Amino acid sequence: MSPERPDLDVAHSIDPAVPPTGPGCVECEATGAWWVHLRRCALCGHIGCCDDSPSTHATLHWRETGHRVMQSYEPGEEWFWDYATDAALEGPALAPPTSHPADQPVPGPKGRVPESVLRAFGIEP
Ligand SMILES: [Zn+2]
Ligand SMILES: [Zn+2]
Repeated sequence: MSPERPDLDVAHSIDPAVPPTGPGCVECEATGAWWVHLRRCALCGHIGCCDDSPSTHATLHWRETGHRVMQSYEPGEEWFWDYATDAALEGPALAPPTSHPADQPVPGPKGRVPESVLRAFGIEP
């Protein structure tokens, strides 16, 4: 852990009352980028993109803030992950919505994913 940020334990890394920031990765939305899967910070609700995405903003959020627990923001997925231990863990029900809209494509968002990437995912652009 970096000395500049609080050394949070798991119990202080989850706030079930905080809603997610929105349907897409905060930083990718700001720069017009795209992502594969989305992850939700269990403490502040930050939505970031996964490590298969070009920008890995969910992991960067952990590195920058020390917010160590995330939950998948994919429809039908409820698993949590602890970046500090690199292990899955159990967590409470977080404030809704618990996933991006079901009609939001993977990779996404619609209209921003390069055609070559869509083809690699077996999607006809
Ligand atoms: Zn991103
Ligand atoms: Zn956070």
